[in-house]
This record gives sequence, C-alpha cells and structure tokens, in this order.
Amino acid sequence: MNTPTPAPKIIRLIMALRSAGITDTAVLSAMERIPREIFIPRAMQDQAYEDIALPIGRGQTISQPFIVAYMTQALELNDRMKVLEIGTGSGYQACILSKLVRRVYTIERHKPLLEHAEKIFEQLKIRNITAIAGDGMKGWPQQAPFDRIIVTAAAQDSPPQALLEQLSIGGIMIVPVGRTGHQVLKRYKREGDDTYAVKDLLPVRFVPLLPDLARYSENADDPVENDDGA
Ligand code: SAH
Repeated sequence: MNTPTPAPKIIRLIMALRSAGITDTAVLSAMERIPREIFIPRAMQDQAYEDIALPIGRGQTISQPFIVAYMTQALELNDRMKVLEIGTGSGYQACILSKLVRRVYTIERHKPLLEHAEKIFEQLKIRNITAIAGDGMKGWPQQAPFDRIIVTAAAQDSPPQALLEQLSIGGIMIVPVGRTGHQVLKRYKREGDDTYAVKDLLPVRFVPLLPDLARYSENADDPVENDDGA
C-alpha cells in the first residue's frame, strides 16, 4: 500500500523540527505519519501544524510539537520496548510512541479526555496502546517494569516514587519537574536498584501533575470538543 504524501504544512513542521535539533529520523517519520489536526478542537485545526501548544478541553493542552519530538527523541526508543505515559491528554504523544515501540500504556486522570483519545486510537487503527483512567502518580504496578516512562505533566518537587520504582534497571524516564514558571525537563536513568543518574535537559512549561482521578465537576464547563455533545 502506498503511504499518502503528507500535506505541505506537515513537511514544513518536520523541517522546522529538524532545524531545531531533532535528528532522530524514526521520530521525525512518526511525527510525519500522525495527523495532529485530529487531536485538536475544530476551531483551532488550522493551527495544527504550527509549533505551539493548543487547548484540548478540561483546562489541559496538547504539547508543542517540538516538545513532543524532543521528549520522544530523549527516550531513545526501539521497537522491543514497553513504555508508560502519564497524562494521555489528547492521545497525540501516545500515538507517536505507538509507531516506535512494541506497546504503550497510558494513564489519564480526566475520564472524558481518555475516552476521546481512545476513539482516536480506534480511528487511526492503532492497536498497541492500552489506556486507563486513573492516577498516573501511582504508575501501573500490574504492567511494571517499563523500559521507558514519559510524564507529560509537571511533578512539583521530584518524580513520584512509584514511577521511579516501576522503571527497569537501565530504563529512562523523561519528566518535567518544578513549579509553574520554574520547570525543567529532566532525564532519569535507572542505573541500579537505588541509583539514578539525573540530567537537566530543557526549561519547559507543562500543566501540573495532580493526584487522583479528576472529579466530575472539575473544569466541567470546559467540554471536550468533538465529543458526542454529552
Ligand atoms: N500527552 C498529552 C499532553 C497532556 S497534557 C498529549 O499528547 O496531548 C497533561 C495531561 O496530564 C492532562 O491531560 C492532565 O489531565 C494529565 N494528568 C495530570 N496529572 C495526572 C495524573 N496524576 N495521572 C494521569 N494524568 C494526569
């Protein structure tokens, strides 16, 4: 089957990512194959291939493409890996990961966002993502250990202990850490049972990592677009 030619807007974005330092061709090709516009509310779809974060409902955002590409590249993935993502959001990052690894597990605390993301996985016929609604700060003990963990919301002081424990020895976790306005993207490499090598990568801006499932009323006035109008 022929791969459809990507639209000029996607090509422009990929070239911009390249000049911004994304050199991993597998990552660039995954970003070329996943149409970002379907994760974005209709009213903003014309901005889908601009390198900016956009709102996705429930007070949350889909990350800027450069950050998605940067974090994905920093994970140093291969097709045998099992990856845990915390913060499914729109599902975009999970779809990018799904093209690069064996299986993706993803957790979201806002049930309506999770359900919307699952519809998109179905629509794109992506079958190697397992998604649940829950508190990602607790990780997913039944599926641990993970070769890689990516957290797409910012931990206040340090990554949750449960996530550090659910990383395989030799595994890498990419996680934003810090309070609003002072966040740094960090890389944790687990070198032994209790030893982690930590490296600061980049200043970033993420929504905060929050405990527990979101209550039904939380941001309920901010509906998920493209939902069934419920
Ligand atoms: N990866 C997403 C971007 C997510 S924005 C994408 O590609 O679109 C961050 C998400 O993390 C939000 O949807 C927020 O609800 C979620 N989140 C915050 N704390 C969480 C937690 N403890 N467990 C699971 N999800 C969490």
